[in-house]
Amino acid sequence: MRKIDIENFQRATRDTPREVNRRIVLNLIREHGPVSRADLARMMGIARGMITPLVNELLADDLIYEGRTARTARGRRPTLLHLRSFDRFAVGINVGTSHTVVELSDFGGRRVAVDGFPTPEDPRELTATVETIVEGFLSIHGEAGTVEGIGFVVPGMVDARTRRVLRVPTLGWRDVEVHTALEARFGLPVRVERDAVACAMARMWLGGGAGAQPELRDFVYVVVAEGVGTGLVVNGSPVRGRHYTAGEFGHVPLDGDGPVCACGSRGCLEAFASDVATIARYLGLPYDGRTTRAEIEARGVTLCDVIARADDGDQGAVEAIRETGRYLGLGLAAIVNALDPSLLVVGGDLCRSWSLVGDEVSATIRRRALTPGAAAIPIELDQDHAGTRLRGAAALVVAPSFAAPAIA
Ligand SMILES: [Zn+2]
Repeated sequence: MRKIDIENFQRATRDTPREVNRRIVLNLIREHGPVSRADLARMMGIARGMITPLVNELLADDLIYEGRTARTARGRRPTLLHLRSFDRFAVGINVGTSHTVVELSDFGGRRVAVDGFPTPEDPRELTATVETIVEGFLSIHGEAGTVEGIGFVVPGMVDARTRRVLRVPTLGWRDVEVHTALEARFGLPVRVERDAVACAMARMWLGGGAGAQPELRDFVYVVVAEGVGTGLVVNGSPVRGRHYTAGEFGHVPLDGDGPVCACGSRGCLEAFASDVATIARYLGLPYDGRTTRAEIEARGVTLCDVIARADDGDQGAVEAIRETGRYLGLGLAAIVNALDPSLLVVGGDLCRSWSLVGDEVSATIRRRALTPGAAAIPIELDQDHAGTRLRGAAALVVAPSFAAPAIA
């Protein structure tokens, strides 16, 4: 699903297919609306007469609507065009290792309803609970709008083409299907995506801390949570790879003799920088991706506890977090050198301790980056990572309406 580049579309007007022009108009209204027809003509640099039929088509298809008139000094009041988002709904499901959240939102990203439950180990139990919640949403809000799809975000690898969940180490899932039961029950399209890719899509389609940024076309969203994962966006499109599993930078080896990772290999970035790795370092536990998590859960220590202790001056906690920053810096430097993105977004609880982590990350990137340009990579923190995962689930439903048409 590629994002249309509305900042650089002048080449695509007279001679480009009608569908592309239609999508450009739709995206301009989405990102700049409410706008007048004259605004659109000015933004696209074409005659107003060329805009009218495109707008009429979008009006006829109910994708936009005409709202209140704008006040102008000279008395002429152009009608403003709005994106129809308030009565188009998406269901977003964020499956977390311990908790699952189901949300109903409109196409503008506004929350309509939300519910949650502890994540069961059995995926069939999970989809059955989701079904009950979605049924409840539909019975209460079904008349306020049309639900157009369901987006499923999971903390593991997904084949986005077949929608099978290939592997979620933290839940013990291997080759699991979550979409068929929901699709059969509601007759709605269900999309399934890895958390980091969904977060990147949320950043791209529904904005982030800095709002919608159409020019943001090459960036990486790095999740630091139960595991470490990355959503790669190149030229406005998520990078998939041949088997739809690209983006596993969490498993780049930093030390071939390092601790055993959840994937079975040794010394991956994830084995040094995930939340579990940081907590284990603080508690002085030997890290093993397969067993340490249970031990930490039994002790009831979270990353936020370690951060709070560091804030209180506990030197052990400070050093454990700084060490995570050094390893994360190595991983991010590898990403910067490999992909040369224009932005790194880091999401997860670790962001709350960026006063400790950030210095280490920046120093490591500066030391490892191969050019001064790469060393100056901006890093944005996503403090509301859980919210972004939910927005990402909704973006899976919303984005296809606005994405560039597939090229045959
Ligand atoms: Zn690994």
